Amino acid sequence: DEFTVLVPGEEEAEDLARIASKLHDAIHRPISIEGREFALTASIGATAFPRDGRDTETLIRNADVAMYRAKELGRGQTEFYTSVMGARMHDQLEADARLRQAVACEALELHYQPVVSLRDGRIDGYEALVRWRDPQRGLVPPDEFIPAAEAAMGAIHEVGAWVLRTVCRDLLKLPAGNSASPRVAINLSARQFHTGDIVEQVRLALEKAGVSPSRLELEITESVALRGQDSTEKALRRLKALGLRIAIDDFGTGYSSLSYLRRFPIDTLKVDRSFVQDAIANPDAAGITRAIIGIGHQLGLRVVAEGVETSEQVRLLRLMGCDAAQGYFFCAAVPLSELPGRLLEIAELWA
Ligand code: C2E
Ligand code: CA
Ligand code: CA
Repeated sequence: DEFTVLVPGEEEAEDLARIASKLHDAIHRPISIEGREFALTASIGATAFPRDGRDTETLIRNADVAMYRAKELGRGQTEFYTSVMGARMHDQLEADARLRQAVACEALELHYQPVVSLRDGRIDGYEALVRWRDPQRGLVPPDEFIPAAEAAMGAIHEVGAWVLRTVCRDLLKLPAGNSASPRVAINLSARQFHTGDIVEQVRLALEKAGVSPSRLELEITESVALRGQDSTEKALRRLKALGLRIAIDDFGTGYSSLSYLRRFPIDTLKVDRSFVQDAIANPDAAGITRAIIGIGHQLGLRVVAEGVETSEQVRLLRLMGCDAAQGYFFCAAVPLSELPGRLLEIAELWA
């Protein structure tokens, strides 16, 4: 499904662009098969000799880099190779390789943040948050490597699989506090959810570790939920059927059409910390928080507030009827070994 077109002569950039546009038109011309119409699209990456390479191999490799860039931009695009593009691809490949290496030599760590029930202060569960212990950079937060892992060549799948394995291993060691069997929430990114069979991967990991699926909650964002709605709905239903719970993360920050809340088998809404943190000082943020809690409860969902940092916020959220909360007020995400001590502190906060 990949073709190389060689254009001889010293063409100007505009000429090449015109040729590419003709190619798009030709490829896109509808084909009729048994009375049905089909149309193809292509992504084109272009290089020019000698500017972008002096040998066939370099020219084709750089055309490939430009083609990946064109694919990222959407269907039916043409991109001309630039050295910036090449440098970016090089950086991505390097970041990807470093991350794979980190997974392979166990340089990732999972920290757990307690989720506290606002009804009685019990431990509702934990959210697992990944960190990378890099010899040069120290403890690297996920925002600094998850997006790169997603964009690049798929290291996110390895990170995701590691997180899943590690959570399954840790589940039986997590302190229960005074709750029966605390759940763990893990974050899934779009790439993990939409490429590869996440359902089968989760099922196998749980089976292998002998862990009950009811102990696991999967957090996805609205944008993940809304991409490829039919296949997403199907995957979520299969996960539900296995006994897992589904949470919508950062609720209210994405583009949301609320109708998906009805169609998808969701258990939990997580109120984004931007609303929670402004709720005390800003009536609009308070209104949004209250409304999210209302929508959640109307639909029979559990509502969890994120990023709670002060006792005023806890008081307000309790007044609003929010089910549970997590945040620095109770505890940051910490290694498993620190949890028992932290749970004691949370119990004291509550008393
Ligand atoms: P998130 O799912 O919204 O996670 C909550 C983030 O808020 C965490 O940042 C957490 O440490 C931080 N946080 C918790 N309490 C407070 C608070 O009271 N105040 C403030 N200001 N922040 C608080 P972290 O660990 O840096 O994670 C950032 C994001 O990285 C996560 O956002 C999540 O989207 C992603 N992420 C983390 N772990 C994973 C993972 O295993 N897989 C994937 N795909 N993504 C992950
Ligand atoms: Ca989350
Ligand atoms: Ca969140």
